[in-house]
Amino acid sequence: MMIASDSLYQQYSDHMRRVADLRYAAAVLQWDQETYMPQKGAGARARQLATLSETAHEWATAAAFEKLVYELQQRGDLNAVQQRNIALSYDELVRRKKLSAAFVRRSSEAVSRAFQSWIAARKANDFKLFQSSLSELVGLKAEEADLLGYEGHPYNALIYEYERSASVKSLDALFGALMPALQQLIDAVRQQPEPDTSFLQQNYPKEQQWKWGMYLVKELGFDLEAGRQDLSEHPFTTNFSAKDVRITTRIDENDLANMTWSCIHEVGHALYEQGLPNEEYGLPSGEYASLSIHESQSRLWENCVGRSLVFWQHYLPELKRFFPEQLKEVDPERFFRGINKVEPSLIRTEADELTYHSHVYIRYVIEKELISRELPVKEVAARWNELYRDHLGVTVKDDVTGCLQDVHWSHGSFGYFPTYSLGSLYAAQFWHQAQQVMPALNSQLNNVQLAGLLKWLRTEIHAKGRTLETEALCREVTGEGLDSRFFVGYIRQKFMLP
Ligand SMILES: [Zn+2]
Repeated sequence: MMIASDSLYQQYSDHMRRVADLRYAAAVLQWDQETYMPQKGAGARARQLATLSETAHEWATAAAFEKLVYELQQRGDLNAVQQRNIALSYDELVRRKKLSAAFVRRSSEAVSRAFQSWIAARKANDFKLFQSSLSELVGLKAEEADLLGYEGHPYNALIYEYERSASVKSLDALFGALMPALQQLIDAVRQQPEPDTSFLQQNYPKEQQWKWGMYLVKELGFDLEAGRQDLSEHPFTTNFSAKDVRITTRIDENDLANMTWSCIHEVGHALYEQGLPNEEYGLPSGEYASLSIHESQSRLWENCVGRSLVFWQHYLPELKRFFPEQLKEVDPERFFRGINKVEPSLIRTEADELTYHSHVYIRYVIEKELISRELPVKEVAARWNELYRDHLGVTVKDDVTGCLQDVHWSHGSFGYFPTYSLGSLYAAQFWHQAQQVMPALNSQLNNVQLAGLLKWLRTEIHAKGRTLETEALCREVTGEGLDSRFFVGYIRQKFMLP
């Protein structure tokens, strides 16, 4: 007797949700580890997390579940969302099965070792201490690419993990057009009088910054009944469902910029998570579309909104209520120019919107060369420094401000960086569309306009979960696929370039 598709699909959903329960429970423990866990709790916490991830992996690849997904894959009577969920789960199972349990364990052990040696290398400011771990990881990643299979470049197999719409071919074309265009823009902006940024580097007491940050996240629409903000070493966003989204920030008493824009950035991620369809909990349709789209939301709020003149025309007077002394001489124009200063620098996370992409591009080039074995790991630091000189015109003086600055490689995350640039480009394209639909965004940005923008993003992007591929989503929202001309246009307008 054949079981009805409805009942099979129900079994599938139930199982997916149970796996999600484990993953989100692990996320609670991870969040706690980064915020409130006392130091001595680390040992037991590592165990608890390992057990939960291992169990989640076992459940997600259980033979009975696999059979269920393969069975549903054959059924022709599922609706479009159900079909898409099954197709995504099927794809993931096929990929997972290509990696043996032994390989997964070997990789996870290598990552733990690499993370420790990255910490040690940073402490000693010496890439050589990270070199052998990185070699091992690069070897494993190249092997992973071979096991997973790919067309064209082996790096394609790794990008797929983070952004299914992208490939070496598409990224080469994208960066090939974007980098020279950006260089022209950077040169033009650098011709303009140098903005004053001194007002950002004054004493801004921690408690006042915290209050300002809480005010800001509420203004941007973060629902504090479905989330909270805390402090951590590195700002991040995590969620346990659409109804419980956590953001963290950090405060530097001598720099207002650090906290303000990382706060807006994380809220951008969090608004997306709070807007995901809660009734699709645990299913692909309840997840974010891709990492590029996730980053598009954070970059849209951080940069298109949070670094615009109209935003600060409204919010600078509010900010001055928190810091009347520090900002008494500053008007919105001066503020706007200061927070948008363009200057080639060494550190990606502190880079302006324009030079930011050079940082990403350099990592992309190096990752490709590593995975295709063109670049020996022992030459990474030298290659890094060479690319920084060629693309940013800056001299890297040591490894900490050079190739040891990002955590990604020590996590084994190769193929992740390009989503940062893609996210900024999608952000500019979505922002352009939002301005077409809501012209008021061009002249005023108070909480009424911001609520309108959020409502639009909710309908156009958030509520759709992962029902569409990144490019299809972009086409549905803006009428065309990703085009960097929107980003270039956005920059021209911001810096009043002809
Ligand atoms: Zn982000």
